[in-house]
Amino acid sequence: MTVRPGSTIGILGGGQLGRMLAIAAANLGYRTHIYAPGLSGPASEVAARWTRGDYDDAAAIAAWVSQVDVVTYEFENVDVAPLKGLDGVRPSLRALEVAQDRVAEKAFAETVGGRPAPYCPVDSLTDLTQALEMVGMPAILKTRRFGYDGKGQARVRDAAQAGDAWAAIGEQPAVLEKMVAFEAEFSIILARGLDGRIVRYDAATNRHKDGILDLSTVPPSGIVAEQAEEAGALAERIAGALGYVGVLACEFFASKDGPVFNEMAPRVHNSGHWTIEGAVTSQFENHIRAVCGLPLGSTALVGTGAEMRNLIGREMEEWPTILADPTAHLHLYGKTGVKPGRKMGHVTRIF
Ligand code: AMP
Repeated sequence: MTVRPGSTIGILGGGQLGRMLAIAAANLGYRTHIYAPGLSGPASEVAARWTRGDYDDAAAIAAWVSQVDVVTYEFENVDVAPLKGLDGVRPSLRALEVAQDRVAEKAFAETVGGRPAPYCPVDSLTDLTQALEMVGMPAILKTRRFGYDGKGQARVRDAAQAGDAWAAIGEQPAVLEKMVAFEAEFSIILARGLDGRIVRYDAATNRHKDGILDLSTVPPSGIVAEQAEEAGALAERIAGALGYVGVLACEFFASKDGPVFNEMAPRVHNSGHWTIEGAVTSQFENHIRAVCGLPLGSTALVGTGAEMRNLIGREMEEWPTILADPTAHLHLYGKTGVKPGRKMGHVTRIF
């Protein structure tokens, strides 16, 4: 079903991704109605409407859904139960369920030929001790659900650290992964339309600082360029197998043994922010086009390359210097209250 311009797109989540989706939607003549727990957020300034509600409040969600023409989400750590039975959630709840659980997403990627790092589910300290033997060390223990930006993770270099690692992640259901000796990290971002057509952006090479994305660059070079096609083909198989509609991001480690699947996000992704100025059609516009059943736009680079740097915490105070650079496109998310590690904005440069 095509959702015509002039209709209202419901977006679960009101952060910066919702803000950039709402702007893209407005450019195509859609209204957006956000559902999020706070009184306001980065998206509230640009969306037509904002409903405050908890993510587990099924009645409030159903009332919100009745006021919109299609539902999408910018935040995957929402409870799926209150959304069950709702029509028109794009991407599907199946994609959300798979991506919410680190074990499910690795197992799913394996079913379509993906190779994650050796991993083992962990539900207790005893499991962890056994998993360390199976997976090998050094390893990284991650909560199965609700982790982001390196949160809910603990590294384990030897078996003596098992107890500390288990305590550090809050003794929650987890997955132990072998540490990958990677040469680079990269992501594949694609959009899949209602008709199953897929468009893919250049693979972004990603550098993290303290577990948070710092810098993304395109086009890829070196080992990332060598492995981008294999990873891109896998991301397309994942999208196809899920009957996916919308923008999907898959993260990989480029290793000497080929691309290692790390994780997927069933939404627009921070490593795709460069597409706003750097691609013919941004990831945000293509997501809106996909969930509304419109034809997808070109993902081609507009120049020879682009880089996107996150403005984290106090780095946003660099804005006067950034504006003095004629090649820089500054995006500030309107957040008040600078905290360490908080994404306040980003800056993209096109070459
Ligand atoms: P994640 O939340 O899974 O994306 O992990 C955050 C960051 O931790 C990644 O971007 C990597 O830099 C690092 N990391 C996570 N898992 C592994 C792994 N299995 N091997 C090496 N580094 C990892």
